[in-house]
Amino acid sequence: MHHIFQRHCHSELPIAVKGEGVYIYDQTGKSYLDASGGAAVSCLGHSHPVVRAALHQQIDQLAYAHTGFFNTEKAIELSEKLTHAAPGDLNHVYFLTGGSEAVESALKLARQYFVEKGELQRSQFISRKQSYHGNTLGALAVGGNELRRKPFAPLLMPTEHISACFAYHGKDASESAFDYGQRMANELETRLLEVGPETVIAFIAEPVVGATAGAVTAEEGYFKRIREICDQYGILLILDEVMCGMGRTGTLFAHEQEDIQADIVTIAKGLGAGYQPIGAMIASSEIHNTISQGSGFFQHGHTYMGHATAIAGALAVINAFEQEALLPRVQQAGEILQNRLSECFKNHPFVGDVRGRGLFRALEIVADRDSKKPFSACSKLDSQIKAKAMELGLICYPMSGTIDGKNGHHVLLAPPFIISDAQIDELTEKLFHSVDTITQTLFKEGRY
Ligand code: PMP
Repeated sequence: MHHIFQRHCHSELPIAVKGEGVYIYDQTGKSYLDASGGAAVSCLGHSHPVVRAALHQQIDQLAYAHTGFFNTEKAIELSEKLTHAAPGDLNHVYFLTGGSEAVESALKLARQYFVEKGELQRSQFISRKQSYHGNTLGALAVGGNELRRKPFAPLLMPTEHISACFAYHGKDASESAFDYGQRMANELETRLLEVGPETVIAFIAEPVVGATAGAVTAEEGYFKRIREICDQYGILLILDEVMCGMGRTGTLFAHEQEDIQADIVTIAKGLGAGYQPIGAMIASSEIHNTISQGSGFFQHGHTYMGHATAIAGALAVINAFEQEALLPRVQQAGEILQNRLSECFKNHPFVGDVRGRGLFRALEIVADRDSKKPFSACSKLDSQIKAKAMELGLICYPMSGTIDGKNGHHVLLAPPFIISDAQIDELTEKLFHSVDTITQTLFKEGRY
């Protein structure tokens, strides 16, 4: 039976009963290697003893206190850890319950900043075609995933979308990687001049694209040029690190590796590592001070924001990163994973690209490596790879996105930071078997 509202009502899904390390177990005792951390969430794996203990302790002490009445010591400590690591003057943290809430809050905060400055004509955002920022209306409006946007198009605020920096699909053979990055960044300037920079609030982008294109990093210099353009035309830069942040690419914030500063950053997923639903928006002192010296407070709020138990879980997660030296391990394990995948798929006729950073990697699946032509949408490639992988005891995240109107397919990998070298081998073997079986079968049957 299919239930239209809740995926977990699908009777064909296995019943998850236990998690331990990088594995989830179903009711029959079968184990699944969680190679995508769900949707890039479970960065510490399952059943981490220190996080569990911190949660028990917090619930025994104080599960919840409304942020309108109280702050908590752990919220202050977690804010300090985040702002200390964040580049630039990102000094103010606003805790929420997930990624979409964090993005909605960032969009509204950016608008209110300009309202306080009397720049009321600023009313639109620019974002990128290959992007996902969440499923609530504001986040969906700035996102570029056509399939997700389509049914709700009349409800979405008008937003300008430019191309993402996506060398595999966009770079001409004759140009250098740097020149390509500059050309893509300059699309922002062109679009700003077309729409009138004085009408724009902010540019929002994922430093490493997640769900919609599969672990796509920008070319060196791209984000520096983006920052320059934002400054030149007086618009804000919002970086959405909901998926790529919290150590996933080897540094706590992915944009540390771009050597730029943002005005607002959003995080979620790895912040609670699956132990608690939590997200956050981190804003600059300039934004904070403008609002506090103006109307005095951000005109926003949610009942469960800054939830004491969620904060205690997130604090234990970030402490575990330090205590277990996990971020250097992400860099090392990320290289190992990239090498294993590259070796394994280098001659595969249907794998066009192996890419990513840290433990955030993806394969792009194509029907033809030379032309990069994707499999057709009706091949149902993603759901078939997902099902085959589950059968083999592997959780990976196959997705489709639109690339210049065509359907593109990738398999996203975001394993827990605690994954061992032997488990990377297991991941690679099972992934190869899943991708190879499905693509070869579809090809033989002419369904591509
Ligand atoms: N932004 C990005 C970059 C994401 O990847 C996601 C979730 N995939 C979101 C926002 C939305 O987060 P959530 O699903 O927690 O609302």
